[in-house]
Amino acid sequence: MKYLDEFNDPKLARRLLDEIRATVTRPWALMEVCGGQTHSIIRHGIDQLLPEEVELIHGPGCPVCVTPLECIDKALEIAARPDVIFCSFGDMLRVPGTDRDLFRVKGDGGDIRVVYSPLDALQLARRHPDRQVVFFAIGFETTAPANAMAVHQARRLGLTNFTLLVSHVRVPPAIEAIMTAPGCRVQGFLAAGHVCSVMGMAEYPELAERHRVPIVVTGFEPLDILEGIRCTVRQLERGEHRVENAYARAVRTDGNPAAIRMIEEVFEVTDRSWRGIGRIPASGWRLTEAYRDHDAEHRFDVTGIRTEEPAECRAGEVLQGLIKPTDCAAFGTTCTPRTPLGATMVSSEGACAAYYLYRRMSEPAHPREEMNPVG
Ligand code: SF4
Repeated sequence: MKYLDEFNDPKLARRLLDEIRATVTRPWALMEVCGGQTHSIIRHGIDQLLPEEVELIHGPGCPVCVTPLECIDKALEIAARPDVIFCSFGDMLRVPGTDRDLFRVKGDGGDIRVVYSPLDALQLARRHPDRQVVFFAIGFETTAPANAMAVHQARRLGLTNFTLLVSHVRVPPAIEAIMTAPGCRVQGFLAAGHVCSVMGMAEYPELAERHRVPIVVTGFEPLDILEGIRCTVRQLERGEHRVENAYARAVRTDGNPAAIRMIEEVFEVTDRSWRGIGRIPASGWRLTEAYRDHDAEHRFDVTGIRTEEPAECRAGEVLQGLIKPTDCAAFGTTCTPRTPLGATMVSSEGACAAYYLYRRMSEPAHPREEMNPVG
């Protein structure tokens, strides 16, 4: 497949590994921000091929994993209403809320539909004017333009029965939170290429300068990741801390201006809680006042729901790169993809699921069809 197969070439991978080995002289800890990158790294064993001086720390860039418990419980309450068609990407159905998940609500009679685009949900709203159609709008900067477009279209078409339950998060404030957290060991970042293909790179130079960390925009195929690592290690060895684009086939400096305009038309920046991590200032988006009629939290009056994370699950530490999934006592025992205690074991981009799928070969794999990444 063009633009994919050529980025899996083993000969070129070996050459990049040789270059990394020739460059590195001392230990470096790099964080890949995106859960899609984490899966690629674990699936292809990239972390095991690197010289021992280079450690990869898995970051919080899995949108399903960081969606707060509070928001899952709001989704469960809305989805259980008889007048509602609740639409979501497939990954979210198995994410545990306080006492159930969306699959359980569906089993109990809730009208929950798995969709592949918010525009599918919009179509449902057109076809069912007598029902309330709610789309679970989660994700990073990558999914925000399509969700913004859906609500913009709903407004244009006069669809008053279409709302979003919004839990959008943004990468740059998460990098800031990671760098200022006690015990942070991260010395360089592989930034998420798909996020930068939307937003560009304008938000990163100030972060790189202030925290004196290289930030290298990186793709998702094995050669993309090795190239990102090579650039980051080269900067670290030279004492540099720049923003660098190692994913130029997809990322332009100014991103996608039309997508950014659509986001800014519909959303405004807000503080957000990240599951297992806590509140991060200015780390999310919510609908602006002008689009408040399309905000499911307000329409269904679930703003008062409060929750507490289960103590047994250490996903917060996994998401901050403080521990590896295998350091959690529940990993592979009481917590598996079929009996998840935390979202990082459910999502196709979750670090715990990646370790379970690719580092526990004797166990049956979780069926791929239950996973569709939301980015
Ligand atoms: S293995 Fe399960 S319980 Fe442990 S951190 Fe991961 S999701 Fe949470």
